[in-house]
Amino acid sequence: RMILLILGFLSTLAVIALIAVAVTQNQPFPKNIKYGIVLDAGSSHTNLYVYEWPAEKENDTGVVKQVEVCKVEGPGISGYSHATEKAGPSLEQCLQQAKEVIPSAQHKETPVYLGATAGMRLLRLQNESAADKVLSSVENTLRSAPFNFQGARIITGQEEGAYGWITINYLLGNFKQSGWKKLLHSLKSLSETSGALDLGGASTQITFVSKELTSESPENQLYFRLYGKDYQVYTHSFLCYGKDQALQQKLARDLQTVDNSLLPDPCFHKGYERTINISDFFKNPCTSEKKKQLPFNQLYIKGEGDYQKCRENIQNLFDKSNCPYSSCSFNGIYLPPLQGDFGAFSAFYFVMNFLNLTSEPKPLALNKVTSTIETFCARPWQEVKTAYHHIKEKYLSEYCFSGVYILSLLENGYEFTENNWQMVHFLGKIDSSDAGWTLGYMLNLTNMIPAEEPAGPPLSHG
Ligand code: AMP
Repeated sequence: RMILLILGFLSTLAVIALIAVAVTQNQPFPKNIKYGIVLDAGSSHTNLYVYEWPAEKENDTGVVKQVEVCKVEGPGISGYSHATEKAGPSLEQCLQQAKEVIPSAQHKETPVYLGATAGMRLLRLQNESAADKVLSSVENTLRSAPFNFQGARIITGQEEGAYGWITINYLLGNFKQSGWKKLLHSLKSLSETSGALDLGGASTQITFVSKELTSESPENQLYFRLYGKDYQVYTHSFLCYGKDQALQQKLARDLQTVDNSLLPDPCFHKGYERTINISDFFKNPCTSEKKKQLPFNQLYIKGEGDYQKCRENIQNLFDKSNCPYSSCSFNGIYLPPLQGDFGAFSAFYFVMNFLNLTSEPKPLALNKVTSTIETFCARPWQEVKTAYHHIKEKYLSEYCFSGVYILSLLENGYEFTENNWQMVHFLGKIDSSDAGWTLGYMLNLTNMIPAEEPAGPPLSHG
């Protein structure tokens, strides 16, 4: 018994000594941190995100943050349809980076998810077996990484919209305001969420809380219960209306009326030229309905740099002619009245940020945005190239088209006007985390967003 007492005393001393060392060296106790990995397999490229959060605060809102993003070299995974076995290995370099960021003792318990979006939805439509092979290839690679593989799949457009909305509202702290914090906020902001506008290469999503009591189109309606509150959310994903596929659609329309292989294009700068291969052009599900026999194999595009003509050209992509509901966006798709603020991210942000049009906290007036894009489109290609020599030519050559497309999508497609334009906020990151669907996807799959508000900390004794 005496020996036990002495041992107990000694171990207490040892703990006190350790605490003293930690305090004198001013080092915090090691935090219990958890990690998660999500790969966003987009149409033009894949990004790997590493998130971290304190284990004991898992269900609080706003505690998960992005600590790493790695851009995978090369094209998006749908770009490997002719060499499917190379899709998985393309991810290895970023997985290696994740191994370096996450302490090795935690690799095994770190979940890894891959979600593929519209690029893979299109490949599945065009060539289902190639899409399956690409997914198996990425699955093999992810399974052989030291992490806890949780699945690689093509997410639906509805999920993409919903998780983007969850991400931005989680990061903006819109979900949970409990206890005394509520008193500090004005009544208006209490229960308000922000809508989400996401623009990719192959699809675009619009998602927001709609107060319409009856839903005219159930397929666009989502119901969430988050932190003890109910949300009725409208969402729609337009396949083929991402900015790259919108350009393909536009060119497919233009090809209907050309009589030779030279196409003047108002959406590219004067002096810019590009050649397009016709043989593959109509294999894409976004253009295949416009398939036409042409007496040439190559199309030569010659820029004109004319905002007005470009705008009229792009406007034709939005068919407003019939609407089977009380209100529509375009192509006969239901859209309830727009409501509240919107966060516009991904390519909405890349393009508007390049054009210096993301001014916050006071958004610019719509006429200022229009005139800036008009002026940019009118600049000759040689001048633009010299002024922005550090920017990839593929992006640079398309900022005029993309800027006009964004304006047309928002104004003609969704019917934003000068009056509610100020409600659109172009944002890339919120604090350290990128706006996009990946964080919301992980929060949902790891059950980190409770349906009910978690109980507060227990009352302390005296
Ligand atoms: P996705 O690959 O489907 O997620 O789509 C991303 C879109 O953003 C593609 O159209 C890319 O070309 C585009 N993009 C990515 N980075 C930039 C950038 N820095 N400037 C302009 N466009 C970009």
